[in-house]
Amino acid sequence: MREKSFYNAMFWYHIFVVWYRYQFPMISEEDRTFAGRWKYLTHWNAMLQIAYYLCCGLAANYNLMEKWEPVRDQAFYIIILPLSVFVSTMFWGLYLYDRDLVFPAHLDKVVTPFFNHQKHSAVVLWTFLEAAVVHHRKPGHFEGHFVAGLFCATYLAVVLWVHLAGGVWAYPILGLLNWGGKAAFSGISIAVYFQMSAPPPPPYGQAGAAPPPANYPPANYPPANYPPPGAYPPPQAPVVVVAAQPAYFGRYPINMTCNNCQAQIQTAVHYETGVLTWILCAVLFFVTGFCCFIPFLIDACKDAIHKCPSCQAFVGRKDALS
Ligand SMILES: [Zn+2]
Repeated sequence: MREKSFYNAMFWYHIFVVWYRYQFPMISEEDRTFAGRWKYLTHWNAMLQIAYYLCCGLAANYNLMEKWEPVRDQAFYIIILPLSVFVSTMFWGLYLYDRDLVFPAHLDKVVTPFFNHQKHSAVVLWTFLEAAVVHHRKPGHFEGHFVAGLFCATYLAVVLWVHLAGGVWAYPILGLLNWGGKAAFSGISIAVYFQMSAPPPPPYGQAGAAPPPANYPPANYPPANYPPPGAYPPPQAPVVVVAAQPAYFGRYPINMTCNNCQAQIQTAVHYETGVLTWILCAVLFFVTGFCCFIPFLIDACKDAIHKCPSCQAFVGRKDALS
């Protein structure tokens, strides 16, 4: 229900953005040069986000969510979320350093503040809200990197093509750097983008997962204070000891034998505020002053707690920091 309301709000908001854009065409000198707006990553991001939320809104209202969900989750984690974070941090980072590199002062007369913030700030807000409100399945490691790589290569090819065919650089900064500088700038940008879009490796035990590392299980497993005192009822009769296979806990549910009730289970995972959450909160507080609540909304910043769904006993955890 929360999901449907969110997508409806996003749907109408983005209809408004499209309408707004037609009311105020906001065509700058740069937009009249070769390839128009399509040479800007910001424009790609804005268009992709509009298309994405229009699809989500339609899927939520026409009972198509089941079919759309697998595409949505891939699109969200590989493109929509990392791309908007990338566009926003690059834009505001460069803007604070020297606005002439990304948004020269004469654009203030052309682009309205609302539209500027929609393209460079709000895009991130919507994706963070979505990460908080909607549960997504993270894509596999390989497909994540493959699609992200394809996306980077496509955009890089467009930037080069615009320069070779039209004689303009999409970003003034590219014109200022020599070829080594351009390569370094693109390389760093792609590395940052990959870092943000890189999905976690698949949990151990699933198809395609790597074998457990050699130093596994760790020497201190199971911890001495486990199971927690009081978790077992006092034994009434001799207990048959079942040699449970040590389990490796990742961020996702795993199949195992419950140490407490001996049932074959798939663990139930929930996320709790951990050390990483607070570190990110502190960093964001000092950098932005107000976005410090965001890590508390995003599961990836928290510790994963595994419980047995049948007896509710705690069976393991994965710290976000480890
Ligand atoms: Zn159990």
